[in-house]
Amino acid sequence: MFSFEEARQRVLERIAPLAAQERLAVKGALGRILAEDVRAPLDIPPLPNSARDGYALRGADLASSGSIYLRLVAEVPAGQYCATEINAGEAARIFTGAPLPPGADTVVMQEYVQHRDDVVEVPAGAVKAYDNVRPRGEDVHVGDVVLERGTFIRPQEMGILASLGLTSVWVHTRPRVAVISTGNEVVEAGEARGPAQIFDSNRYSLIGLLETLGVEAVDFGIIRDERDELRQAFLSASAQTHAILTSGGVSVGAYDLVRDVLNEVGVIDFWRVKMRPGGPQAYGRIGPAYFFGLPGNPVSAMVVFLEIVRPALWRLMGRQEWQPTRFHARLRETIRKRPGLMEFQRGILTYAEHGWEVTTTGPQGSGILRSMVKGNCLIFLAEERGDYERGEAVWVEPFPI
Ligand code: AMP
Ligand code: MG
Repeated sequence: MFSFEEARQRVLERIAPLAAQERLAVKGALGRILAEDVRAPLDIPPLPNSARDGYALRGADLASSGSIYLRLVAEVPAGQYCATEINAGEAARIFTGAPLPPGADTVVMQEYVQHRDDVVEVPAGAVKAYDNVRPRGEDVHVGDVVLERGTFIRPQEMGILASLGLTSVWVHTRPRVAVISTGNEVVEAGEARGPAQIFDSNRYSLIGLLETLGVEAVDFGIIRDERDELRQAFLSASAQTHAILTSGGVSVGAYDLVRDVLNEVGVIDFWRVKMRPGGPQAYGRIGPAYFFGLPGNPVSAMVVFLEIVRPALWRLMGRQEWQPTRFHARLRETIRKRPGLMEFQRGILTYAEHGWEVTTTGPQGSGILRSMVKGNCLIFLAEERGDYERGEAVWVEPFPI
């Protein structure tokens, strides 16, 4: 049996990023992963320009005491290039974003000066040489690698791509991931439910999680605990998708057939992890498709997805080294725990006077999906540790939004 860290490492090591790429409009690239290094074809800003509304002047003209008087020789609105040279004793009216005229290297804010006819009075101390000027290339230098291959495209990446004048980029194609629920007791919401049956929640949570990652989820429905039906579903999913996500049927019961069938139509790598919730899992492949067999309990399925499957899918998507946000929070209660399993309890994180604090959501049974609903984070409790005391610092990881 692997520790949680070993299991995650092992799953990650066996994943190769998808090679397929497509060219997308920058406007449609949110949440995708860049498949190329993006180099700057120009400087940003392209010319030194004013950060303020005011007056452009020569820093060398500024006096250490007393006002100076400068003659206005030009006016430069944003978007216009002014070729008039600013000589000693001269200034230009200038507005935010307008390029500095030749000779000028400093902008004094309009609030600090007196302007009469074509003369501005700049009092001593109103400005220092080079103030309020955004140098050429301050943000980006031509030739810089502005974004590296493997970058996750957030709104700011869309903005910077557009600022470089680019309208389209190469991105990795989105993996298609099959989602399969298993179990004779599981029925689809909206359909007739027998007295001993439950509605399927896992496919809904898992499809939601896949969509937060920007993966294309392919719904393969609910499959009964029958070898033939499982075999058929697995083979058909492996022919149509890059990865298969199942829930249920990976434990040691007589009807837990997922591992058996995986072994028959593909290869199983390992199936047990020293973690709670979610000990029994099944990893392997069917042909070229990766197989992630999640536990059936609704909380276990989500936790294992977040902590093992999610990093694996990021890797499949071509995303560079990626760590979820984790930080320390102070426990507001004592947590009972036995050494031997890494635990992921659901917590409620709040910001208090002295920093982050966390409580558990209450009962932590792996079938209590309301612990995920009430909670906003996972609390990490180390495998080798026993009880955690109130007041101790613990690692927490906020849920994805
Ligand atoms: P299993 O590992 O298949 O024995 O499932 C463990 C527990 O999770 C059982 O109580 C199942 O009824 C429950 N379960 C399995 N699949 C689902 C599902 N798709 N939605 C909700 N609960 C499930
Ligand atoms: Mg089952």
